[in-house]
Amino acid sequence: MDEKNEIKEKLYLRLERYCKTYTTSDPDSSLYPSSSNQKILAKMLFNELKKIGMKNVSIDKNCYVTAELPSNKKGPTIAFLAHMDTAPAAEGKNVAPKLHKNYSGGNIEINPKMGLFLNARNCPQLKEHIGDDIVTASGGTLLGADDKAGIAIIMTGIETLIKNPSIPRPNIKIAFTPDEEVGQGVKFFDVKKFGANYAYTFDGDLKGTIEVENFNADAVEIKISGKSVHPGTAKGAMANAARIAAEIVTAWPESMTPENTEGYDGFIMFDEIKGSVERASVNGIIREHSINKMKKMEKLLNRIIEEKREKYPLAKIEISIKEQYRNMKSVIDKNPLVLSKLVEAVRQSGIEPKLKPIRGGTDGARLSFMGLPTPNVFTGGYNYHGPYEWISLDSMYLSYKTLINLAKEWANY
Ligand SMILES: [Zn+2]
Repeated sequence: MDEKNEIKEKLYLRLERYCKTYTTSDPDSSLYPSSSNQKILAKMLFNELKKIGMKNVSIDKNCYVTAELPSNKKGPTIAFLAHMDTAPAAEGKNVAPKLHKNYSGGNIEINPKMGLFLNARNCPQLKEHIGDDIVTASGGTLLGADDKAGIAIIMTGIETLIKNPSIPRPNIKIAFTPDEEVGQGVKFFDVKKFGANYAYTFDGDLKGTIEVENFNADAVEIKISGKSVHPGTAKGAMANAARIAAEIVTAWPESMTPENTEGYDGFIMFDEIKGSVERASVNGIIREHSINKMKKMEKLLNRIIEEKREKYPLAKIEISIKEQYRNMKSVIDKNPLVLSKLVEAVRQSGIEPKLKPIRGGTDGARLSFMGLPTPNVFTGGYNYHGPYEWISLDSMYLSYKTLINLAKEWANY
């Protein structure tokens, strides 16, 4: 077997084993990690890291699995990270991965009985993957390549580095983290103790994709106190909080909603309205790549609120905006090497890197603001968080190559 097929087989066997392990996280839990089943995969990975010869392997009480591979050359300490949980948006129990070898361009049968097929019509991205080996689930569940592919890539990459000490490498740390999908992935992560200078998450997207920009994110809460009187004698005396809430939501321009924006364009999404005559509330999220544009959107929203205050003097309208997370680009810009080395490592794998803004947040963004600049590297999959999720083993191989090249790029730096 040639080197590529040997690695692809290792990647597949790992992906299959990790995907079969149930690790759905729970957004309603007050525990950390949010679901205890994540600890089972953590323990598995802990044992595997020891077996392949990693040093300082540990699991802490927050379910962070960490390990170290000492350098054979000088250089800063770099780190590779992936998350262990899968999205609560779809069933993650009893996942049965299915390997479709040498994709011919026709239908990929996920589950014919359930009517689940993948093809270039329902997923045009597949056109770029003719000849690839594709992995899907087999019906009713997600696959969980987000982000078990990341774990398989890191595990296989460091195994290669251990077995081939002639490949130059700096000091390398790795971390597998819980609860990314519920936005809590690095909540208790001790960046200082971890001791890396630069890090990379291996989490998602098609081959060649590099992510160093994410949304700035604020949450908005609007509270309205109305004035309730008998509707028969309400003229000039009533303020209907529910009606005011609805007016505020519809006053927001449609062109700045998630269903009408893409790429770099930001939005406000009102995702919860509760209301009666007496009291109403509107909650929403504000997302924009540019902090200036975000402040402009917030100004516009404040103007709408001001108009409603003037129109409804009997009501009391309060608005509060809270910071959620920030675009990591500002941190990456101050540490240009973390990106230039990655761009070079992707090129060395034989593909052209594609820098793409993330319409969301990442663990890497949080880590960047915690002092560890952390861009995101593709793993080669698509259609995450649902039964149509798929990943190309050939793209996973390119991601694996990128990891090896990153070690070489940073060695002797
Ligand atoms: Zn992910």
